[in-house]
Amino acid sequence: MTRATRAIINLSALRHNLSIARRRAPDSRIMAIIKANGYGHGSVTVAQALNEVDAFGVACLDEAITLREAGIAQPIVLLEGAVHAADLNLVRGYQLELVVHHPAQINLLEQDSGRAIPVWLKLDTGMHRLGIPPGQVAEMLQRLGQLETVAQPVRLMTHLANADDRQDNTTSQQLARFDAATADLKLQTSIANSAGILAWPDTHRDWVRPGIMLYGVSPFVDSAAAENELQPVMTLQSELIAVNRQQQGDPIGYGGTYRCPADMPVGVIAIGYGDGYPRHAPTGTPVLVNGKRVPLIGRVSMDMICVDLRDCPEAQIGDPVVLWGDDLPVEEIASQAGTIGYELLCQVTQRVPFDYQHGIN
Ligand SMILES: *Cc1c(COP(=O)(O)O)cnc(C)c1O
Repeated sequence: MTRATRAIINLSALRHNLSIARRRAPDSRIMAIIKANGYGHGSVTVAQALNEVDAFGVACLDEAITLREAGIAQPIVLLEGAVHAADLNLVRGYQLELVVHHPAQINLLEQDSGRAIPVWLKLDTGMHRLGIPPGQVAEMLQRLGQLETVAQPVRLMTHLANADDRQDNTTSQQLARFDAATADLKLQTSIANSAGILAWPDTHRDWVRPGIMLYGVSPFVDSAAAENELQPVMTLQSELIAVNRQQQGDPIGYGGTYRCPADMPVGVIAIGYGDGYPRHAPTGTPVLVNGKRVPLIGRVSMDMICVDLRDCPEAQIGDPVVLWGDDLPVEEIASQAGTIGYELLCQVTQRVPFDYQHGIN
């Protein structure tokens, strides 16, 4: 038998989470964000399962080309836009849409010729990563309006920096700046990411851009996915490959950072950082063995982790283990490891086979 380590991808949970985005922002069109290989879930399968959305958003050309070559027909938006002049021919060839966030990208379009490309002009309203200053909107729209290479009308967008924190007033400030610069323009707009969709109804506008919520993960610092009616899409699972009785004082694993406080059963699980389980998950990080929470002990190795089985004395070789997913939110593991659920989902490695369940085809 092959190694039991698997990522189970529940496509019906994915569609359920889309229905939550729709219910929360009923008047908005949906641009489903499937960058970074669909947050590590497999962008083509995710796109097929979400085929009723209005558009997809990806970070870069290669991600978009992968989707088009797999037959995905919806509009696809390049969230970082074009970087090199040669990108524009590919953008046309694959019928993609561009975010324009910098005057240099307008220069590229001015020097270009060919069929008009749909464009989203991105404003920097306070994130200070990508976008033009709100004060330059009129000038940039004027330049874009003169170009045969740009489909009219242009749409407008911005990105929220702190929407995951409901107490933070940055979101209201960003909204105010966006509205001050765009309210009179009568153009389509898009502001909300997942946190905006779930917590900030004023951000909903013509289009919303859900990412992490589609995968069943909470975008918030202070509330779980289940409280937002989201269901985890990925369950990372494995099995016990050894159960050993260790003696009081025995060190466990590399560096011996954990010593058994008593004679106790220690389980060894076939998962490690070589699979994308975070190496920084400390002793105490929860793991489900036979559906029961037990603590990880000692360091995470490349292929294995160890757990304290004192609360699970009946556990034996071959018993099922869940590292995150159903009944164990990835947010919780991420928080233990000093990161966010987004990163853990993106970094499951090629060694792990993916099983897609509840597909429509
Ligand atoms: C990644 C991204 C999103 C989605 O963000 P989530 O927090 O995952 O919902 C939306 N818009 C832009 C521009 C993005 O880069």
